[in-house]
Amino acid sequence: MSSSPISTCENYDVVVLGAGYAGLMAALRLGRRRLGLRVALINAEEQFVERVRLQETMVAPVKPRIASLSAYLARTPVAFIQARALSLDPARNRINIEANGSTREVGFTQLIYALGSHVDADNAPGASQHTFRLDPGEGPRSAAALRAALHRFAGRPARVLAVGGGPLSIEAAGEVKSTWPDMDVTLVSATRAGDFTSEKVQAVLRRDLARLGVTLVDDERVGEITANEVVTATGRRFPHDICIWAAGMRAPSIARQGGLEVDAQDRVVVGTDLRSVSHPSILAVGDSAHPNGPTGAPFRPSALTAAVSGVYAAEQAVARVVGKTIRPFSFSTFAQAIAIGQFAALFPLDSNDNPILFVMGGRAARRLRDILVWLVLHFMTFERLLPGVQTWPGQKRATAPLVGEAESNGSAALPGYQRRRS
Ligand SMILES: Cc1cc2nc3c(=O)[nH]c(=O)nc-3n(C[C@H](O)[C@H](O)[C@H](O)COP(=O)(O)OP(=O)(O)OC[C@H]3O[C@@H](n4cnc5c(N)ncnc54)[C@H](O)[C@@H]3O)c2cc1C
Repeated sequence: MSSSPISTCENYDVVVLGAGYAGLMAALRLGRRRLGLRVALINAEEQFVERVRLQETMVAPVKPRIASLSAYLARTPVAFIQARALSLDPARNRINIEANGSTREVGFTQLIYALGSHVDADNAPGASQHTFRLDPGEGPRSAAALRAALHRFAGRPARVLAVGGGPLSIEAAGEVKSTWPDMDVTLVSATRAGDFTSEKVQAVLRRDLARLGVTLVDDERVGEITANEVVTATGRRFPHDICIWAAGMRAPSIARQGGLEVDAQDRVVVGTDLRSVSHPSILAVGDSAHPNGPTGAPFRPSALTAAVSGVYAAEQAVARVVGKTIRPFSFSTFAQAIAIGQFAALFPLDSNDNPILFVMGGRAARRLRDILVWLVLHFMTFERLLPGVQTWPGQKRATAPLVGEAESNGSAALPGYQRRRS
């Protein structure tokens, strides 16, 4: 009997790699029985990890709202494979996966690459060894390990540093100080903390962090991290008992190692059809994708961007099967919310992602933010119940193929586009 990987390879019309917001949504969208497609969804864990709630897991374990992906997908035609992807061979349309200690290959005609991102701890000396990250799993530097470390210091004036001036760092610092007011929490940022959207939003973020008692250190780039201190480029030293690294994200290296064109953060470079510019039978979505053309609102990492790009990629995959062309990907976000411990900043956005009208702060904003997070999950469950039903702001229904309207990988102004602000 031959033991060659090719003879034992399971083959699918579409394989979706990664079951986060993007991948799960893509798989559900492909689950229309009338399409008759063989679809597989591969994910490392059996449960769906709501990454937007990872900062809550610093305090206590968060009960998964989808504890079993296989049960969740049981009544759909999608085959769920719990396995870790090890490598991708785009020339042979194969993925090498590992499950329960053994490896095998899975073949695809089209692949939707949805492996998300993780905190980049390789971008400063000492960060990978001496810091914790808001990453899932049970690793020694994961959010779960951070929780154990924080609990060891509970009730003591431990020195906690959060490094980074963006939403991740703000959410981490806010959650720690809200839960353990005795701790001495400092947020160190290479720019002005909170300076990633409008001045009005920034003012609310900084006000609420200050209200909680978080010390803000702006314009200090961290140069090196040791077991008990952080040294900035200007030579300032910040001693710490716990350091949380939140200064940049990176996608998994599987695409780069497989020879796909990627950007500096290993995100797959895609056209506005979300197809890889180097390997068009591979689509990339969510945090793992970097569109090279306008996508309506800027393609920033968010649960909504991930989910709607997943829907779109599924439609693209189907369009190729039936020989049609669909509009380029375009979307709008309508609000953004950033948790700051017991508070949050929540603000409506225009179609180009610019904050408009007002910024809501305080506890009410935090409650509303939690409802939005819950809604994204229900956005997916709705798709599971009625596959093909979802549409999203800034996009006409992608299900209606528009023959010949879009150019693959094109970035020219086409009907349905919204231009970015700059
Ligand atoms: C603490 C925190 C708070 C956030 N808050 C917000 C917020 O309030 N609002 C918001 O919109 N966004 C928020 N985000 C961003 C948001 O979570 C991401 O943009 C979103 O999760 C991206 O979805 P995704 O499907 O691309 O990736 P993910 O959700 O990361 O999913 C990727 C999936 O791929 C799987 N995977 C990875 N590697 C492998 C492998 N080798 N083999 C098999 N499976 C693999 C993972 O297990 C995971 O299931 C937050 C992020 C963090 C970390």
